Amino acid sequence: MYFLGEVMSEKNIQNLVDGLVLETVRSMHAYHVPDSSGMIKLDAMENPYQWSVELKEQWCQRMAAADINRYPDPEAKGVVSALRKVAGIKDEYDVLLGNGSDELIQLLLMAVAKPDRVVLAPEPSFVMYRVLADTVGMDYVGVPLQDDFQLDLDAMLVAINKHQPAVTFLAQPNNPTGNLFSESAVREIVQAANGVVVIDEAYTAFTDADFLSWLDTFDNVLIMRTLSKVGLAGLRLGFMIGRTEWLSELNKIRLPYNINVLTQVSAEFALENYDVLAKQAEQIKIDRSVLQVELDKLEAVQVYDSQANFLLLRVEQARSIFEEMKEKGVLIKCLDGAHPLLKDCLRVTVGTGEENQSLIAALKSVF
Ligand SMILES: *Cc1c(COP(=O)(O)O)cnc(C)c1O
Repeated sequence: MYFLGEVMSEKNIQNLVDGLVLETVRSMHAYHVPDSSGMIKLDAMENPYQWSVELKEQWCQRMAAADINRYPDPEAKGVVSALRKVAGIKDEYDVLLGNGSDELIQLLLMAVAKPDRVVLAPEPSFVMYRVLADTVGMDYVGVPLQDDFQLDLDAMLVAINKHQPAVTFLAQPNNPTGNLFSESAVREIVQAANGVVVIDEAYTAFTDADFLSWLDTFDNVLIMRTLSKVGLAGLRLGFMIGRTEWLSELNKIRLPYNINVLTQVSAEFALENYDVLAKQAEQIKIDRSVLQVELDKLEAVQVYDSQANFLLLRVEQARSIFEEMKEKGVLIKCLDGAHPLLKDCLRVTVGTGEENQSLIAALKSVF
């Protein structure tokens, strides 16, 4: 026992920490975000566009009227009804809000976590599925995709049968590969799973695929979306759509005020003006095709088709290309080493037309 004023040696502190903090936690690494100041930022699937001055002024007025001395509405009813309208969510389904969809993944896993229970996802996919499974002490099983980044259905079905996963995650389209999985494979997985299957539609604004109606057919499906990729990454607002039976349980372990007052006011305002964001997403889709054509012209680059706001590339020497691009002021994501299927892969977010031109120019100069 240590007393006030007594200095605890570093060694003793480490012993205390090691004795208390779970091994599963100690073996993890903190989420690393590279410094991007002054750079063209094409690493994190953010929408590159600003709002007009008029829109910003209206937004500031709404924020100025917010009661930040009061706790927020714990159910964020205004945001939920705006989301219902924009996303076309039927009354019979519940909507649960999270501080980013990351928090919703965490809530779901916390609700089902028991030692030996499994979280399953194809790999490579969104890294937080594994990170959060580790956090809550569940086992994580990753099933490799095929070389074309489609689901290996046989392997998925074998893994589901063997591990009986409590939760399976399928990102549609997938991050970081950008493609949609075949709908029939997704259907077979949903039908084979005894646990819940989360269809993660983080990139819904950039694809025609839409699995919302599957809630009518499958009791074990939850749909997850976010406002991050459509232009509101800074707000941190994700939402899960599903049957009351599921979401009312998750709602019990949600922290009461997880969506703060300013996020609620801003999200409501942004959703009232959703046409602005939708237009930006349409522009990003057009620019995605333009960028893909331009990248395809570079002999040293292989580009994969994408239904998201980013493109996956394969080059030679991805790591040194990444570093050279960084030196030229263009920040992209290097995926080499993240998974064997991503050897020599880079991921570039679709930026503004001008940013995309800078990306191409920088790439040309490093080859
Ligand atoms: C970016 C991303 C998310 C996380 O979104 P937040 O709402 O910002 O937490 C979830 N799933 C996938 C597949 C993503 O790429």
